[in-house]
Amino acid sequence: MPKRKILVAGTLAFDSLETPHGKKEKIIGGSGNHFAIAASIFTKLEMSAIIGTDFPKEHLGFLNKRGIGTSNVATVPGKTFHWKARYHGAMNEAETLDTELNVLLEYDPVMDATAKKCEILFLANLHPAKQEKAIKETPNAKLRILDTMNYWIETALDELKEVLKKIDILIINEHEARNITKQTNIIVALHEIMKLGPKTVIIKRGEYGSFVYREGEKFFYVPAYPVTKVIDPTGAGDTFAGGFTGYLATCKNMNSFNEIKKAMLYGTVTASYMVEGFGHDSIAVTKLSDVKKRYKELLSMLTIK
Ligand code: AMP
Repeated sequence: MPKRKILVAGTLAFDSLETPHGKKEKIIGGSGNHFAIAASIFTKLEMSAIIGTDFPKEHLGFLNKRGIGTSNVATVPGKTFHWKARYHGAMNEAETLDTELNVLLEYDPVMDATAKKCEILFLANLHPAKQEKAIKETPNAKLRILDTMNYWIETALDELKEVLKKIDILIINEHEARNITKQTNIIVALHEIMKLGPKTVIIKRGEYGSFVYREGEKFFYVPAYPVTKVIDPTGAGDTFAGGFTGYLATCKNMNSFNEIKKAMLYGTVTASYMVEGFGHDSIAVTKLSDVKKRYKELLSMLTIK
């Protein structure tokens, strides 16, 4: 089985979170952090990010021990990116209270030779202009996957549309899909997004699961894994993408729609562990055997014998 290395460009952050289960001040988070921890269950990674001098260096050591290289993580004077959010009710969507970009404004994704060798590029939540620069830096990447969020859709839509022309797979949630296209019907929104560039689009629907559509292929729908203990959904999207991309990195043919379908299930069950604790507490102790166990359970929920 191949084990391709993934390069992730994303945020390392401090998150201040409030859910019906409690409050946490300035815990470690970020789209790059959550994605990489989840994907490292499957394969090795390189990370490109920026942090301020207030970020605990031991955390980079923790990432390194999981097989996540941090030679492309820049430390600069100033404060690390800080995100404040609150979740209500069924916790399907975060209410962003504040986004302090801080040193993220200075982030310039220049990649070293190790990063340039990675066959898969994952563009986690970031300003689309920085995502575009990461693409330019990695001409050898065979597969490019992108995630984004409302913050960037609302502040940099033209740049986002530019970068969508250059990626293979887009992973977004239904609110983001509606926000990009201004369409309420999710299937109409999907087809409008396909016209913007990506040949494969995944739309996540929180507790209702997700679906994937590929040009010229059929739809594939996956329910959410039935979790009862949702403590903090932060990073559910990033870890879905981590499980999805991590599994694909181990496939002989990353382009096969059948493997994409399996990757959807791996993404779903990987995210199901993430939501069971605050920050990365629970995903950091999740093993491949745990993921495989829930994969089998989820598959049996989809199959009639
Ligand atoms: P998710 O819950 O998967 O959508 O991702 C939540 C993570 O994304 C948190 O750990 C945040 O630090 C990070 N995040 C929040 N807003 C942004 C943003 N505008 N750009 C990049 N990362 C963000």
